[in-house]
Amino acid sequence: MQTQDIHLGSPLSTACFSPALAARQPVAARLLANALSRGHMAHAYLLTGRCIADKWLMARQLAAYLNCEKEDKEKSGSCLLSYTDLNDLGEPQKVVDDKTFSSACQNCRWLFRDEHPKAWVLLSRDAGKSGKIPVESARNLSEELARTSQYLRVVVIDDASEWAFHRPAANALLKTIEEPRSNCLFLLFGECEEDVLRTIVSRCQPIPLNNRFEENIGFLARQSPSLKSRLEASAWSSDENRDLIRKMRGELFLSTPPHKRVAEKDALKFSHHLQEELEEHGGEKLFDLAINIEVENLAGSYRTDAKYSRYLLELFKLGEEAKLQLDHYVTKKGVCETFVLSWLKLRQNLIR
Ligand SMILES: [Zn+2]
Repeated sequence: MQTQDIHLGSPLSTACFSPALAARQPVAARLLANALSRGHMAHAYLLTGRCIADKWLMARQLAAYLNCEKEDKEKSGSCLLSYTDLNDLGEPQKVVDDKTFSSACQNCRWLFRDEHPKAWVLLSRDAGKSGKIPVESARNLSEELARTSQYLRVVVIDDASEWAFHRPAANALLKTIEEPRSNCLFLLFGECEEDVLRTIVSRCQPIPLNNRFEENIGFLARQSPSLKSRLEASAWSSDENRDLIRKMRGELFLSTPPHKRVAEKDALKFSHHLQEELEEHGGEKLFDLAINIEVENLAGSYRTDAKYSRYLLELFKLGEEAKLQLDHYVTKKGVCETFVLSWLKLRQNLIR
């Protein structure tokens, strides 16, 4: 991993990001600000997590800090800081008071409007047919960065996941990141490291961002209100439920941790068990109870690991689909098999 010297006097670590952003993302803000104050920024950072809005804010505030012309920016931050942050709902808000904005430096004004011709470079997926980062753009980026510049160019790749790249584009990008150039900083966004090509990850310093509560279990629970109520202790306490849970836990499928391999025959055995219980007890709570056991198996990792929170979200959806199918008179056998085999597939994707 390349590091580069970016000297800007000795900035106070708090001045780079707005207080609200630094409070929401204490780890990421500290890692970046410390590197900056030591004068040793990595050449490329991979910002992981699900909070897209905070990634953009972080990139923008960093670009402004690195290019702001204000004399006391080490102390009070760039001119841009007071203009951008998120409101309580997590929506971007732009608080602009014309008078103060006109006193902002040219670089900050450009950056505020995403119009900086040199310091802000975006490499995005093509909205057109391929949906991937165009090879041409990745190559042009390399040429553009080879030119010297008076600005500190921040290059944002807002989806660095494996499927965003054709191989030639990934190769061009790798080469560009590898060649140490002055005055340029790569910020790559990805949900988790596992989504990003290993060759790219190895050239970046990963920076984990906190997921907002609603981006994890809160959001998941909203998708499935019935599950939320079952997450409460009372759902576990009735004798009948306790008995059902005990029996389900005896199934190899459910007693195996989600990241370990399970054979399809054991999944089908679980499906058969589910079907029998369904014949006997009826009702949709069986699916909720099974998912609930998986929530317990995950031991809270879905709160910090995007991979698991996404897994859980998909699993909730499967549970809701299964209940819908029951309402639509699909056979119980069919519903259970579809539910469990799709679940098995989700688990296999975790291992992959
Ligand atoms: Zn400025």
